[in-house]
Amino acid sequence: MNIPKRPKRPLTTYYLIAITLLLVINLFVIPAIMGQRVHEVDYGTFMDMTESGKIGLVEIQSNQIVFTDKEKTQIFKTGLMDDPGLVERLHDSGAEFSSEIVTQTSPLLSLLLSWLIPIGIFLALGRYMRSKLMDQENGNSMSFGGNMFGGFGKSKPKVYVKSSDGIRFADVAGEDEAKENLQEIVQYLHDPKKYQEIGASMPKGVLLVGPPGTGKTMLAKAVAGEANVPFFSMSGSEFVEMFVGMGASKVRDLFSQAKEKAPCIVFIDEIDAIGKKREANLSTNDEREQTLNQLLTEMDGFEGNTGVIILAATNRPDSLDPALTRPGRFDRRVPVELPDLKGREEILKVHAKKIRIADNIDFGKIASMAAGASGAELANIVNEAALRAVRDGRKFAVQSDLEESIEVVIAGYQKKNAILTTKEKLIVSYHEIGHALVAAMQTHSAPVTKITIIPRTSGALGYTMQVDEGNHYLMTKEEMENKIATLTGGRAAEELEFGYITTGASNDIEQATKIARAMITRYGMSDAFDMVALETVTNQYLGGDTSLACSAQTQDEIDRKVIELVKQQHEKARKILTDNKDKLDELAKHLYEKETITGEEFMEILNRKPAPEIAQQTM
Ligand code: ADP
Ligand code: ZN
Repeated sequence: MNIPKRPKRPLTTYYLIAITLLLVINLFVIPAIMGQRVHEVDYGTFMDMTESGKIGLVEIQSNQIVFTDKEKTQIFKTGLMDDPGLVERLHDSGAEFSSEIVTQTSPLLSLLLSWLIPIGIFLALGRYMRSKLMDQENGNSMSFGGNMFGGFGKSKPKVYVKSSDGIRFADVAGEDEAKENLQEIVQYLHDPKKYQEIGASMPKGVLLVGPPGTGKTMLAKAVAGEANVPFFSMSGSEFVEMFVGMGASKVRDLFSQAKEKAPCIVFIDEIDAIGKKREANLSTNDEREQTLNQLLTEMDGFEGNTGVIILAATNRPDSLDPALTRPGRFDRRVPVELPDLKGREEILKVHAKKIRIADNIDFGKIASMAAGASGAELANIVNEAALRAVRDGRKFAVQSDLEESIEVVIAGYQKKNAILTTKEKLIVSYHEIGHALVAAMQTHSAPVTKITIIPRTSGALGYTMQVDEGNHYLMTKEEMENKIATLTGGRAAEELEFGYITTGASNDIEQATKIARAMITRYGMSDAFDMVALETVTNQYLGGDTSLACSAQTQDEIDRKVIELVKQQHEKARKILTDNKDKLDELAKHLYEKETITGEEFMEILNRKPAPEIAQQTM
């Protein structure tokens, strides 16, 4: 089917012959004329020569060390090693530092360059024209040109930057959970053999999920930086307006480069731009689909242990095509959430190091004023403060510069992001503590690992991370009732403290109802129906749909029982909270201030003064 495009070939062959000729000259003729070639030696030899003072000129280049013997008759080169104190030792050995070894000894190089550069440009142009016309299928037929002269051709599309900018985990403030999650990948890239030996394979793809500006790109770069491996990146949105076929061929290029350089990191920003769910309607974006298919093909095409790890960023994980998140593709998720108070303070401090700033800054205060701001916004606030200082003719930024900047920056993003007002923050604090306190009072143990009021990517305003003690598969009736009580605890706390209720409990309501219903219709946990199945699960795995198997009257009665059960537990939750109102206040205030607290902190406060033994009564 590609026949119409073939006539382009002879011209390409023509270029290739010209280039081959040039290479022959470059590799054989010129060295022969020069009569001297650069000898490659191992680093040990270089060290020995340094020690015995045999080095004449030396030049440390970005990727190698070039040096001559004392007589300056021979040129050597060796790879670059992490060798602290090298420069000093060289100096002590009497070597002369020079930046002109190559040009001094090979005057032909400049001539060569004046040849190569124009021809390189010529070739790149040729390839550019060709790649525009290139079909996906005949991509491989170009592999001669692709492999031999890949250096020219591939430097053309600016799709991937090969630098992690020296970013390390330490540069990413906060985000400890994400860093911990990614640590394993760093370990793997350090020593893939260790994993291969035992037969473990790393996930090929990891999704970094979180709102914009939370440091996903930074984290990806930091993984590459920590593991000291190359970093390739491209952005999904670049493909949206491309010619058909270009996106796919770029993905192919990217991966072929990455495989050569493995172990390495490939980072795909905004993957949702290419990885959106494919819709059934007719107006699909062909380009996007081809690019996505190529990406899937590439991911399936290499073994898990080649050392290429693909990190992709998105803030809309739910909109991704399920094909992308299947096992063997992006099957790992690392949440990168908005920073909490402590995180914000750290981020502010990291960025404050980059500007001149007074040393009596209260970063904690700035951090608490900027509730809900992302890392990028905080970086922006610091920069804005520096600009303000300049405008006002100060030599360094002061507290008020930072405070004023918050407003400037926040005004810009307030509409986009869900920033909680102080009142909302307080309500959410009470709500979350309500859940946790009801849970704790029923079980007499730490109910949660973490409570936070930072809005999550999922859309929940706050959340309480429940631990299921141990692995247990059976739940008693009492445990299920307690769970319902815990779910109603959020709303109960709102009622108690504010006297009005909010929409914040919608998810709790849904869950509590589900549990109550299941108790009655599926687990035989009501006296009225004994062990009669009133509902059957039709689809165990896909969401667990159920269908009712009873008369309309029974349905009425089920509904009444469900309501009764939830009401009863809601009442219980309210009583627990009323009896422990002082603790509710104390904990909610603490959460409001800290924004995130751990289970231990929670228990510590709860047990500070001997709490009344209400718990026993409610059991
Ligand atoms: P994302 O990829 O999640 O949209 P980036 O990694 O591009 O976010 O972050 C944008 C900028 O915001 C970074 O260059 C950095 O200056 C700042 N930033 C974001 N998160 C952090 C963080 N956790 N620590 C320090 N700086 C951060
Ligand atoms: Zn809730």
